[in-house]
Amino acid sequence: MSIKSQLEAIKETIPDNVKLIAVSKFHPNSAIIEAYSAGHKQFGENKVQEMNLKSANLPNDIEWHLLGHLQTNKVKNVASFVNTIQSVDSWKLLKEINKYANKAQRVVNCLLQIHIAKENTKYGLSFESCRYLLDTQNWQMLNNIEIVGLMGMATNTDNEALIREEFRSLKSFFEEIKNTHFKNNPNFCEISMGMSHDYQIAIEEGATIIRIGTAIFGEREY
Ligand SMILES: *Cc1c(COP(=O)(O)O)cnc(C)c1O
Repeated sequence: MSIKSQLEAIKETIPDNVKLIAVSKFHPNSAIIEAYSAGHKQFGENKVQEMNLKSANLPNDIEWHLLGHLQTNKVKNVASFVNTIQSVDSWKLLKEINKYANKAQRVVNCLLQIHIAKENTKYGLSFESCRYLLDTQNWQMLNNIEIVGLMGMATNTDNEALIREEFRSLKSFFEEIKNTHFKNNPNFCEISMGMSHDYQIAIEEGATIIRIGTAIFGEREY
């Protein structure tokens, strides 16, 4: 199947209120153009350098989402054009994004990445450290970032019950944080969870953003 037909097949199966990020990491600009030509505008990349190189040669109405771990010293390279950073996992990083977004006179959307998987290889804040960040830091003062929700990755497993349990824990943590810190803020509304192999479960458990690479573009060649 072509990229266009795989993209359209996925879009048919997801509800209108769920946003699809096409994860184009390791795929060439020609693949992105094929999806873009089919009307898709939201793309996700893991690495700053790869996203920069690609975006420089692609239409500037593409909405770029950074999904991978971001080092504070690289924030300046993306702040001028990135739409959303889904992988914010520290107060230091949030402040740095705000600083460079301010220089670029923009507002950058941020998702706090939460560690929900049983694996210890993945990045992200624990529930506890996320609560602590929101309780103790004056993030409300940062005018050039908007915390729009939470992101999480489930354990890479065939165990559907475990995946479901992890997604469910992110959804319930989202509800808690919404209540305690964002009650009057409608912009805090996104739960980004679900990839090629588990997005259907994620949608059933309340995802508003899914991030799909392989099922659209095929296997990545590393
Ligand atoms: C690579 C990646 C995806 C997409 O994974 P697929 O299994 O190819 O759909 C989604 N989210 C993050 C954070 C990723 O790194």
